[in-house]
Amino acid sequence: MEEIIALPEPEIDSEAIEIGPEDLLPRLRDNGYDSERVARRRAWVSNKTGATLEHTGAVSYDTEIWRGNIENPIGVVQVPCGVAGPVLVHGQHAKGLFYVPMATTEGALLRSYERGMVALTKSGGVQTTVLSDENQTVPSFFFKDIAAARAFPGWVDANFVNIQAAANATTRHGKLKNFKCYQTGRQVLVNFGFSTGDAQGMNMIVRATDAVCRWIQANYSIASYFLFSGMCSEKKPSGFLMTRGKGKRVTAGALLTHDVMRLYLHVTADQMFRMWQSTVVGHIQAGAIGYNGHAANGLTAIFIATGQDVANIVNSALAMTIFEPHPEGLYVSTTLSALSIATIGGGTGLPTQRECLSIMGCAGNGHAKKYAEIVAATILGGEISMGAAIASQEFVGAHEQYGRNRPK
Ligand code: NAP
Repeated sequence: MEEIIALPEPEIDSEAIEIGPEDLLPRLRDNGYDSERVARRRAWVSNKTGATLEHTGAVSYDTEIWRGNIENPIGVVQVPCGVAGPVLVHGQHAKGLFYVPMATTEGALLRSYERGMVALTKSGGVQTTVLSDENQTVPSFFFKDIAAARAFPGWVDANFVNIQAAANATTRHGKLKNFKCYQTGRQVLVNFGFSTGDAQGMNMIVRATDAVCRWIQANYSIASYFLFSGMCSEKKPSGFLMTRGKGKRVTAGALLTHDVMRLYLHVTADQMFRMWQSTVVGHIQAGAIGYNGHAANGLTAIFIATGQDVANIVNSALAMTIFEPHPEGLYVSTTLSALSIATIGGGTGLPTQRECLSIMGCAGNGHAKKYAEIVAATILGGEISMGAAIASQEFVGAHEQYGRNRPK
C-alpha cells in the first residue's frame, strides 16, 4: 500500500504577514525615473532589506530613458558581455564577417560558439535566408450557437479590407496581411498575421488587434470577444509555431569540410552524423518540440546583450538542426521557426544594448532581417560545436576548463 505522508500545518501567523503603508514601495513624483528618485528608491530597498546595492546603482547614463521599459527602477544588473566570431555570412540581408555580442554568466558558452563560428567561416561561410516575417495575434469571438459561429469567417473574409483599415490606422509600420479562422464549438479564433517592420511588434499588433475587435463588435453581431486566446503562442512553446512561425522564420546552412572538422572540431563527418542521428531517440522520448542541441543558449546570451525581450526565447528557440552526410564533409543547417527579434523598440534603444547591436551593424531602422540572419548563423555555430564536443567526448573537459566558477 502506498504510504500517505501528512503535510505539516502551515505555521503562518496571519497577523505577521499583514502589510502596512510602510511596507509598500514609495510612490515617487512622476513615477520616479530621474536618477535622484531612482537612488531614493534604491536606498529605501537597502534600508528595508539590509542589502548593499552599490553596484546596482552604478548606472552610466540618464535613467529617464527607462520610462516605458520598467517600473519601480532601482538600478542595473550588470551581466558580463563578450563577443564570439567571426562568422562569415552569405545572406540575403547579411553579407560579410560578423562578431556577435553575447551576455551570459555561463562559462564555456562563448568559447563554444566561437569555435563553431570559426569552423563555419573556415569552411567557406554560412548561407542564410529569412523565409517569412510575420507576427500574429489570435483573439477569440463568441456567438450564441454553432451556426452563428459558422457564419462568421465568411463575413470576416468579405470585410477584410475594412478590418485591415481599422488595424493599420493604429500604426505606421505594422500591416495586417492575412487571417485564418479556427472554429471550436461556438467560438471562433481568428489568427491575424502582421508584418511589423524592424520591431518585434507585440505592443504594436496587440493595439491594432484591439482596434480590429472593437470594429468587429460595432459592425457584426457577436456575443463577446477576448483579445487573447493563447493560440498565438507568445512566450509559449507550441507545435503550431513550428509550421505557422512567429516573427522571423530563418534558416542557415553550410558545408563543413572534412579538413575543418578534423582540425577545428576534432571529429570526422561520420562521428558527427552518427552522434546527431542517435539523439533522435532522446528527443522523441522526451516529446520535444523541435530538434536542436542548445539553440536557447546562444539566443539568450544574444537577447540579453541586444535588448530583446528574453521571455521570447521560449518560442525563438524552437529550432530544427540537421546534419547530413556529404561527399566533401557534412552539410549542417538550422532553422528557427519563431525568432522574435527587433532592432527597434523594446529594450533595443537602451545605450549598452544599442552599442551591442551596432557591433553587427544592426542598430535601428532597416536592419531586423540582417540581424535575424546573423543570429541564425551564430546559432548554427553553437550547434556544430556542441555536436562535435559530444561526438569527440570532449564535452566535460571543455566545461571543466572554462565553465566552472566554483564558490571559494
Ligand atoms: P514598442 O517599443 O512598443 O514599439 C515600437 C514602435 O517603434 C512601433 O510601434 C513603431 O511605431 C515604431 N517604429 C519606428 N520605426 C520603426 C521601424 N522601422 N519598424 C517598426 N517599428 C518602428 O515595440 P513593439 O515591437 O511593438 O513591442 C515589443 C515589446 O512588446 C517588447 O518589449 C515586449 O516586452 C512587449 N510585449 C507586449 C505584449 C503585449 O501584449 N502588449 C506582449 C508581449 C510583449 P508605429 O507603430 O507607429 O509604426
